[in-house]
Parts: sequence; C-alpha cells; structure tokens
Amino acid sequence: MSNDNKSIHEFDINLICEYFSGLERQGPGSPDVTIKALSFIDGLTDESRIADIGCGTGGQTMVLAQHTPGKITGIDLFQGFIDSFNNNAALLNLQGRVKGVTGSMENIPFLEEELDLIWSEGAIYNIGFERGVNEWKRFIKTGGFIVVTEASWFTENRPVEIDTFWKGAYPEIDTIPVKIAQLQKAGYISVAVFILPEYCWTENFYVQQIPLQEKFIAKHSGNKMAENLVAYQRMEAQLYDRYKEYYGYAFYIGKKI
Ligand code: SAH
Repeated sequence: MSNDNKSIHEFDINLICEYFSGLERQGPGSPDVTIKALSFIDGLTDESRIADIGCGTGGQTMVLAQHTPGKITGIDLFQGFIDSFNNNAALLNLQGRVKGVTGSMENIPFLEEELDLIWSEGAIYNIGFERGVNEWKRFIKTGGFIVVTEASWFTENRPVEIDTFWKGAYPEIDTIPVKIAQLQKAGYISVAVFILPEYCWTENFYVQQIPLQEKFIAKHSGNKMAENLVAYQRMEAQLYDRYKEYYGYAFYIGKKI
C-alpha cells in the first residue's frame, strides 16, 4: 500500500502513541532552543502559572521547569504521554511544580487571564495556528506571553513535491510574515521569531527514531499499519533532508496586549 496520500492522522492512535512514547521528544526541538525562546520572556515569579499545551511526554516542559519559577501544567490528549510526563517530573523532583493532565487543546482547563505564559512546541498545528492563538488568548493575562513552534515556509515559492506534501499534512503552513500578521491580528505583539536549527529535526528527532523503527516493526510483525507508520516517518525524514531549505519550524513569541 502506498503512503503517498496518507496523513499521520489516519494511523491508529495507540500505535502512534506507542511509537512516539519511546522518544524523549515527540517533535523537533532542543533544550537550547527552548531556553533561547524563554530568554524573551520576562516577569515570571514563583506565583506564575504556565501551561504547556500538547506537552507529550514533557521533554521541553522539564527544561522549562528547570529554567523558570512558577507552576507548570502540561496538557495532552493522550493518557500514556501524560503518565510518562508525570513520571519524568517525579524523576527530576519537579512534581511539586509540574503536573501533567489529560485534556484537549480545544478546551483547555484554565480561567480567564489565569496564565502568565502559554507554551506549545510542535503541537498547535493540531488545532491550527490561527485558531490556537485566538482561542488561547483569553486565558493569558494582559502582558503575558504565548510561545509556540509552528511549521513555516522559508520562501515564497517551493518545489511541487514538498508543497503537495504539506498541503495534505497541514494546509495552514505559511510564510513567517503571514504567521506574524496572524499573531498581531489576534492581539499580540510579536516579540521575537526565530527558526529552529536543522539538528532539532535531524539529530534530535529523525535520527532518534532509527533504532526504534526495526524493533517496532518486529514487535508488530504482520501489522500493515505499524509498517506504514514507520514508512511514513522515514518518508518525512527524507523529505526534510531534500527540502529543508524551504521549510522548518519557527518559534513565535507573542506578548498579549
Ligand atoms: N510538545 C511535545 C510534543 C509534540 S507532538 C514536543 O515538542 O516534544 C504533538 C503533541 O500534541 C502530541 O503529544 C499529541 O498527543 C498532542 N495532541 C494532539 N492533538 C491534541 C489535542 N487535541 N489536544 C491536546 N494535545 C494534543
């Protein structure tokens, strides 16, 4: 069966969770870029309330927690990720300040203006950037921040193959100026934007998957969906290698006004 028209969303959710829970991160990123993005945020105190939406198993959340005061709530749709998240918090002795809860980013469990900071790495695409920044805004205090990574085009034009892939995977991918305008229209000042370095995708994400892939296929021997999931990840890695000058993730840091 060809994967050409298959989106990641069509795979069995339990298989996806099992595959990605073997990784420290479920998307491209790196501790140093998390810390760099955090350097644009000021005013956090022990009283601050932070949410990490689509936190996965918490790779970036634990880095955040080690570099900020305040309490952090991680939200993810999948219980398995949240279980690992809370284990990871306890292993680092952060359980007093960092708590994972299962929930949807479409309905986040906070009060109006409760949060000083919303963080979301490699996850806002699940709701869509524009919808996410607009809907989450009411939970952020005036003067508070939103920090997200989002798939972005680096050029105005690009080869058909990569354009077609992204139109299927995430039609909202757009250029950085378009995303900044969306952030501004939603009522934020764009404080900073920067592109994640290549190693966030390669060494830190695709390369980490290689040793897991054969084991995963062997464990699910005969399961076409498991084979297709691995094939899809390999195809994604190859596309990145071929077309990385045209797209990537950018960090968008906005301040609510
Ligand atoms: N922030 C993590 C995980 C990114 S992968 C990291 O950078 O490593 C995207 C995450 O979004 C996954 O953990 C997935 O379970 C979660 N997710 C997908 N749809 C969601 C939804 N509707 N609500 C909350 N989380 C969701």
